Amino acid sequence: MAPRVAVIGAGPCGLAQLHAFEEARAQGADVGEIVCFERQRDWGGLWNYTWRTGLDEYGDPVHGSMYRYLWSNGPKECLEFADYTFDEHFGKAIPSFPPREVLYDYIVGRAKKNNVRQFIQFNTAVRGVSHDEEAGRFTVTVQTRDDHRTRSETFDHVIVASGHFSTPNLPAFEGFARFPGRIMHSHDFRDAQEFSGRDLLVIGSSYSAEDIALQAKKYGAASVTISYRTKPMGFGWPDGIEEVPLLSKMDGKVAYFADGTSRAVDAIVLCTGYQHSLGFIADDLRLRTDNVLYPDNLYKGIFWVGNPNLMYLGMQDQYYTFTMFDGQAWYARDYVLGRISLPSREEMVADIARWRRRLDACAGAFDEIDFQADYLADLYEAVDYPAYDLDLTRAHFKTWEHHKEEGITTYRDRSFSSPCTGTSAPVHHTRWWEALDDSMSAFLDMRPGV
Ligand SMILES: Cc1cc2nc3c(=O)[nH]c(=O)nc-3n(C[C@H](O)[C@H](O)[C@H](O)COP(=O)(O)OP(=O)(O)OC[C@H]3O[C@@H](n4cnc5c(N)ncnc54)[C@H](O)[C@@H]3O)c2cc1C
Repeated sequence: MAPRVAVIGAGPCGLAQLHAFEEARAQGADVGEIVCFERQRDWGGLWNYTWRTGLDEYGDPVHGSMYRYLWSNGPKECLEFADYTFDEHFGKAIPSFPPREVLYDYIVGRAKKNNVRQFIQFNTAVRGVSHDEEAGRFTVTVQTRDDHRTRSETFDHVIVASGHFSTPNLPAFEGFARFPGRIMHSHDFRDAQEFSGRDLLVIGSSYSAEDIALQAKKYGAASVTISYRTKPMGFGWPDGIEEVPLLSKMDGKVAYFADGTSRAVDAIVLCTGYQHSLGFIADDLRLRTDNVLYPDNLYKGIFWVGNPNLMYLGMQDQYYTFTMFDGQAWYARDYVLGRISLPSREEMVADIARWRRRLDACAGAFDEIDFQADYLADLYEAVDYPAYDLDLTRAHFKTWEHHKEEGITTYRDRSFSSPCTGTSAPVHHTRWWEALDDSMSAFLDMRPGV
C-alpha cells in the first residue's frame, strides 16, 4: 500500500520535499498521500519576511528571524536548484548576491511551477509527534490556529522540516537588568534604521553578528562595537566598527570588556545563536543537537537511527542550503518509495561516527566547505538529482571566503558563474555598501548593457 507521509514545515526544506515527491509522481511513481503542515499563513519559512517579533497573532513564538535589507550572504550560484535555474526563473542573468525578496521569489517559483501548494495545510501547527510501536505508525497532533481545534492523524513516515534558526539562545550579562536601553536578540532585529545615530553593541562572532554590525553601520549607526567570546572575526571593518573581547559587565550605559576597555552604548543586539527547539516531538524521537555540520543520531544527516521512518531535513549548520535540502529530500523520498534501503542500526551508527570523526578533524572554513560538499556528493550518488558542477560551488565558496578577507563591504559586489548553466552573473548596478533599496524591482532594474 502506498505510504501516508507527513511533512512538517513549508520552508525551503519542506518545499524541497514536496517538490521531490512531485518529480517522482511525474515519472509515474505511486507516491501515496503527502500532507504538509505549515504553522504560518504562507510558505517560504524564514524567507517569508514578517515585521512581527515576540509572539504572533495566535500567541505562538514568531518563526521569522530575517530582517529588512537582508542580502544573500553567500553567492546564489552555491544554492542554485539543479532543476530550476536562476536563468529559468528570472529569464535573464542576475547578480550573485540578491536581496531576500529575490531569493524568496525564486524558492516559491519552483514550488508554484510544480503546484505543490495543494499539499500544504496552512495555519496548522504540529503540536505532537509520537510513535505507536504496535501499530508501527506515527501519530501527529495538529492544531488549526484559526479555530484552535486539535486533531490527530496517523502516518507511516514523518519528515521534520521545521528549521532551527527561530528559538534564540539568550545569555545574560551582569548589569543587563539596569541597562537603560534596548536589549534584543538578533531573532527580533528587523530594521537597521532603528539604530541610526546610535552607538550599538553587538555580541557574537558568527554570520549574524557580522551582518547585523554591517547593516547597522550601513544604515547610519554612529558606531558599532562587536564583542567576541573566543576570537575576533578579524575582517577589515569600515570606520566606526570595532571588535573587542567579551563583555564582562554593563554599568548603566557603559559596557566593560575583558581587556579592561569600556565604552557607552545605546542598545545591545545579542547575536548569540539559536537552539534546536523541537518540543512538539516525543522525547524518544527528538533530535537534540548544537548547530553542527553533522548532528549525532541522524544517518545520512536525515534518518533518526532509533526509527528511520522519522526523518529530519536541514538540521545541520549550513554552508550549503537549498541544494543540500534537495539532496536530503530526494534521499528521504527514495527511502519512502522503497528505492533505497537502509543498513542495520549498527552500520548507521558506525557511518555517523565516521562523518563526525572527520568533522572533528576539520581545521577551518575550507575543510568545513569540503566536508559539506562531500556530504552532498554522498547524497547525490544514491539519487537521481540532476547533475551540476558541485566542485565549482566548492571552489566558489573558497573564493568567497577570500573575497570576504579582501573586503567585508565589497564581497557582495563580486560575480560568480552558475554551476548549472555556466552563465556568468552580471555586476550589480550599485555597490552593495551604497545600495539601500533592497526591493526586487530595484535589484532587477539592471543598467542597460551590463
Ligand atoms: C537571519 C538569517 C539569514 C539567513 N541568510 C541566509 C542566506 O543568505 N542564504 C542562505 O542560503 N541561507 C540563509 N539562512 C539559512 C536558512 O536557514 C535557510 O536558507 C532556510 O531558510 C532553512 O530552511 P528550513 O526549511 O530548514 O527552515 P525555515 O526556513 O525555518 O522553515 C521552517 C518552516 O517550518 C514551519 N514550522 C516550524 N515549526 C512548525 C510546527 N510545529 N508545525 C508546522 N510548521 C512548523 C515554520 O513556520 C517555517 O515555515 C539564513 C538564516 C537566518 C536566520
